[in-house]
Amino acid sequence: MTSGISFFDDENIQRLFRRIDLARDEVAGLTAELIRFPTINPPGDAYEDCARFLGERLRERGAAVEYIRGHGEPDDTDTHPRMNVVARFQSGKPGPCVHFNGHIDVVEAGLGWTMPPFDGVIRDGRVYGRGACDMKGGIAAAVIAIEALLAEGLLERGAIEFSGTVDEESGGFGGVGLLARKGYFDRSRVDHVIIPEPLNPDRVCLGHRGVWWAEIEMTGKIGHGAMPFLGVSAIRGVGEFIALLERELLPQLAARKTRMPCVPAGARFATLNLNSIHGGQPEPFDGLPAPVVADRCRLVIDRRYLIEEEPEAVRSEIIALLERARATQAGLDFSVRDIMSFTPTMTESDAPVVEALDGWIEALFGRKSTHVASPGTYDQKHIARFGSVRDCVAYGPGILDLAHQPDEWVGIDDMLTSAKVMAAATLTLLRREEKAS
Ligand SMILES: [Zn+2]
Repeated sequence: MTSGISFFDDENIQRLFRRIDLARDEVAGLTAELIRFPTINPPGDAYEDCARFLGERLRERGAAVEYIRGHGEPDDTDTHPRMNVVARFQSGKPGPCVHFNGHIDVVEAGLGWTMPPFDGVIRDGRVYGRGACDMKGGIAAAVIAIEALLAEGLLERGAIEFSGTVDEESGGFGGVGLLARKGYFDRSRVDHVIIPEPLNPDRVCLGHRGVWWAEIEMTGKIGHGAMPFLGVSAIRGVGEFIALLERELLPQLAARKTRMPCVPAGARFATLNLNSIHGGQPEPFDGLPAPVVADRCRLVIDRRYLIEEEPEAVRSEIIALLERARATQAGLDFSVRDIMSFTPTMTESDAPVVEALDGWIEALFGRKSTHVASPGTYDQKHIARFGSVRDCVAYGPGILDLAHQPDEWVGIDDMLTSAKVMAAATLTLLRREEKAS
């Protein structure tokens, strides 16, 4: 442990863990209550009710609570306001701030459930429902951890913060993105961030790969389908591009390996998915197709890239292939439109928040923690892009593979264990002497 706190000789830690063990029914009950707000995104139902429920609970325990609506953010309307909550507990003494962030939105229930998805059923040591694992169980564990620290009088210096944010499942622009742009993740007010996403309670997620979504439009020349030699087929132009991808770029990507500990292991290589393709006559059409040479073909690509790759190079190697495809026939041209782009982000494995979590995972599990990185992005991207806090990871209860599935659940033991890790790591970080930064 960097702090010098030992699992066995610190009486405060023993009291903290005992209190968390006694909160077994409470953590399950809180998870169930959160599940009963059907915060389905899209469209963003019940956001405000859920945010206010969390805010009121923390206000009663002494937090200064703010509600921050994403006015003008994507999908924000008066019927579906993008409502976020930030609660701050201040010790009154100078010191660092540890921030917990959880997204309150969930994806639709979908089919295949054997239990009601929004009742919060507690059974056999589990809580079931949409969002149980991703990530209302994580929010409940973080809240219980914070409450245990407060109840034991362990907020001795600095501050503890909790934010419940919206829209993670749709990009997080009106949630963590908004808070980060407004300065909520600046070093002047926050030092360490833990996002309790479901990653199994013995793993720490350091960050995620980058993403570049782009729409490519190839244009040619319309002509009669019976005389295709008089037109220029944009579909064939895209065909040339895809052939180049298959022969040259995809094998190169599959050979680029990252030092990021991505799971599953296939995600340790650069990847590209062809998201959609459409050329020629609009779909769907009724009756017979018109005999024309397609003068337009659109392709959406989803490129996931590594911390070792530069975003400009990711883009320019695609452009280079498009130029070669264009050169195969006079009359072809192309344009590229960026849809979304986020650079990779990774907190180093010796960062304070990582070492604090690692130490307590090892103390509680009796084995070293596993460091992972996510193949896709999550809200850490906004903190990395707009905030100045760099000490940020995802750590929380729940089994990642259950996220977005029917009969999603979170284990109550998992929540208690991760609440202990989060509470003890918070204490370690609050007591830590800040290095000059
Ligand atoms: Zn999530």
